[in-house]
Amino acid sequence: MVTAVMANPLIAVVGRPNVGKSTFFNKVAGRRISIVEDIPGVTRDRIYADVGWQGRKLTLIDTGGIDVHSDDIFLRQMRQQAQIAIETADVICFFTDGRTGLTDEDREVANILRRSGKPVLLVVNKIDHISQAERVYEFYELGLGDPIAISAANMMGLGDLLEAVCNLLPAPAEDEAEEGRIMQLAVVGRPNVGKSSLTNRLLGQERSMVSDIAGTTRDAIDTLLTAADGSRYNIIDTAGIRRKSQIEDESLEKYSVLRAIAAIQRCDVALLLIDANDGVTEQDTKIAGIIHDEGKAALIIVNKWDAVEKDTNTMETYRKKVLDALKFMDYVPVLFLSAKTGQRVHTVLEHCDQVWAQWTKRIPTGMLNDVLADATADVQPPSSNGRRLKIYYVTQQSACPPTFIFFVNDEKLMHFAYKRYLENYFRKTFDFTGTPLRFIIREKQREG
Ligand code: GDP
Ligand code: GDP
Repeated sequence: MVTAVMANPLIAVVGRPNVGKSTFFNKVAGRRISIVEDIPGVTRDRIYADVGWQGRKLTLIDTGGIDVHSDDIFLRQMRQQAQIAIETADVICFFTDGRTGLTDEDREVANILRRSGKPVLLVVNKIDHISQAERVYEFYELGLGDPIAISAANMMGLGDLLEAVCNLLPAPAEDEAEEGRIMQLAVVGRPNVGKSSLTNRLLGQERSMVSDIAGTTRDAIDTLLTAADGSRYNIIDTAGIRRKSQIEDESLEKYSVLRAIAAIQRCDVALLLIDANDGVTEQDTKIAGIIHDEGKAALIIVNKWDAVEKDTNTMETYRKKVLDALKFMDYVPVLFLSAKTGQRVHTVLEHCDQVWAQWTKRIPTGMLNDVLADATADVQPPSSNGRRLKIYYVTQQSACPPTFIFFVNDEKLMHFAYKRYLENYFRKTFDFTGTPLRFIIREKQREG
């Protein structure tokens, strides 16, 4: 039901050194993409590039450009490259050299790629002239289908290659689905925190169209709400269950947690209601944990604010207490309102829009790695037993919630504290208010 914002497809470029991978990269990226490192005079090639081709956005990864251990033998490096490509890429472009012809290493890598079941395109580079076309024939032996002849240097055949890549990808998500998309809001919390009252308030103050589908076997009542600006929201109100169910009062709290799960799984943004009179309870923490684990955007709403005696600092003190109780979720905005009087209810949808924008956000790979470079320069990655954590690169795999893959030399060296540091650095740089972030740490395995 939730249409996640699609990630750029990842295209891995694999091949022996000197077959022309960097040349290809630089040509399709349309500019020099090498960057100067902090160490004076040292340049290294970017190993990724976001490329647009006929309206599609692709992220190319040059697995050959990934720094490898100096004691790795050549073939091991090749296998490793292939393995990374298989694990991450949607399509693999296997580069060979039409001038040197087919080599044993090519055969080895081809075997690995063929067995992976991933879509692979066999590219024969350095076919600089039509007269050299017959050089591709020997590559049929690899069993990877028709070779695609290109000349990266002369920019010949690059369009055909990108087109072949696109043909192997699933059709892009239709724009229409994105445009006409209705944001799914789950209103969750313990019994009596004010879920129905808030839902009714939201509906009451907006020009709403109610499409009540209560009475079905659903666990929640869905109500469509059209805001004054035309934005549409579907409110999943789990409060409705109570009135239909025969559940006894004592079990109601437990039951409400279970029911919240289904609503949370269906939603984009979860509105977790807390009773201002009670503060954060154990059940609240449980529901918050589900929202976080399910990777949903969230707002914490402290309801019944009208019932609390206040002085100037009450709200700030209360906010700190809430976030302290929900430490794992301290990225979430906390709103104080009263469903009864209507106080600040009008800010709820605005906040939903804001956290939704963060939840669906995509950061270009280049920018991401620049920020990673800054972060690792500010605070050096940890080391243990003389081995230091090396982060080769990071790429955003998907949105909803933003999910990042970090390629590292040794997973075990990525301590919780450093991961937390990187997350905070990303949040400081890119905002991400109200959305969890997912960090996937992937080790480049040594073979043998
Ligand atoms: P990589 O190690 O696979 O990244 O290969 P490079 O892109 O660094 O290229 C290795 C060498 O091959 C360089 O000297 C390039 O100029 C050359 N080269 C790359 N593409 C072509 C091509 O299409 N035709 C010819 N003749 N040479 C090329
Ligand atoms: P639900 O079980 O979470 O749907 O909670 P309800 O919306 O049914 O509200 C439970 C009780 O809390 C009702 O008696 C409401 O009148 C009361 N209530 C809801 N919101 C507020 C509020 O903002 N302030 C106060 N003082 N009472 C509220």
